[in-house]
Amino acid sequence: MVTQAQLGEYKRGQQQIDRLVKRDVRQLWDALGAIEPDRKRDLLVDMVPGLVNSYGPIAATLAAEFFADTVLLEPTVPVIDSTEAVQKSTRAVIGGLWTGQEAKARERLVESIVRHTRQHGRTTIRESVGRTGGRVRYARILSYGSKKGPCAWCRMLASRGAVYWSEITAGGLDDWHDSDNCDAVAVRSPEDFPAGVPGYDDIVVHPETKAWMPREMFDEYSSVHEYLDTDKQVAAKMREKYGYT
Ligand SMILES: [Zn+2]
Repeated sequence: MVTQAQLGEYKRGQQQIDRLVKRDVRQLWDALGAIEPDRKRDLLVDMVPGLVNSYGPIAATLAAEFFADTVLLEPTVPVIDSTEAVQKSTRAVIGGLWTGQEAKARERLVESIVRHTRQHGRTTIRESVGRTGGRVRYARILSYGSKKGPCAWCRMLASRGAVYWSEITAGGLDDWHDSDNCDAVAVRSPEDFPAGVPGYDDIVVHPETKAWMPREMFDEYSSVHEYLDTDKQVAAKMREKYGYT
């Protein structure tokens, strides 16, 4: 069982890293000053990946400890170079530089860089699960840290429950949005889901796929899902029906 204390400690560790990342991105942005947008973009694209490549391994180490503490197996810490992914995101989120919305652009970059840093931890959990030969499964645990609660997209993904490593598809369970506080965790059994997180106190075993699913999220999913619906369509229907963001 992932205890409340373990999950809480893991989240606090992540938040400390988040704070450093946010501080550094803002400091870098401000230090570059009011220069021409194209020039600022080029410098950011050059310099921001270094922050993720520095803090990411710290997030990975933290995740490795969390994995070892919760499932009592040896973790795997993958070597990840985030440079290309971070460059791509940086270009994508700083459009405000050209439209007079510099503060907004800066905060979008901050959130994006936090996500890329956290990805090191999430990938560590995923890869560690993969190295156990099917002894543990991977699950997305919703975060209730923000006032609005978890979004429809995250709830839709969480409804898939705990899956084997081979079932984590791109765009599926290991897909995280900016400002996403949900966590990747490893579980050994349906009883192993974190204690004290709403929605995870009742786990059902899917009759066909044998997946371990949190009943609350799975029921919501089932109540709106229609044949051939895409993930996006299901999330949109959950948003509509249940009022999620
Ligand atoms: Zn989420």
